[in-house]
Amino acid sequence: MSSSDPFWRCDRCNVTTRQMAGRERTECPESWTERDGVLHCLKCQRDVAADLAVEQAGDSSVDGRAQVRRWAVVEFELERDPDRSDGEIARAISSSVPTVSKARKRLEARRRAA
Ligand SMILES: [Zn+2]
Repeated sequence: MSSSDPFWRCDRCNVTTRQMAGRERTECPESWTERDGVLHCLKCQRDVAADLAVEQAGDSSVDGRAQVRRWAVVEFELERDPDRSDGEIARAISSSVPTVSKARKRLEARRRAA
């Protein structure tokens, strides 16, 4: 790997990642997102989703906020890639399969209601 290899820096946590060989230079690293020129790694996308959910929930108790964050991360992952199994998502975010499947049902119910 040479110093001219392209790399990205997350605008939120400053973590960097290098371009994978053989991919388009302009392509965002897998699972990263760029919006309005702001680049976020996967961890920060989860954090941002969780922060937003806490803000919207308006629950000021520590337990309440922790729960809202957990749900938000599960829902973020379900929306990011809904084709993965509940087990895969649970592993990716250190959650449990029942939690993920419950969140999936909740999301689906919400979609039907919308
Ligand atoms: Zn980040």
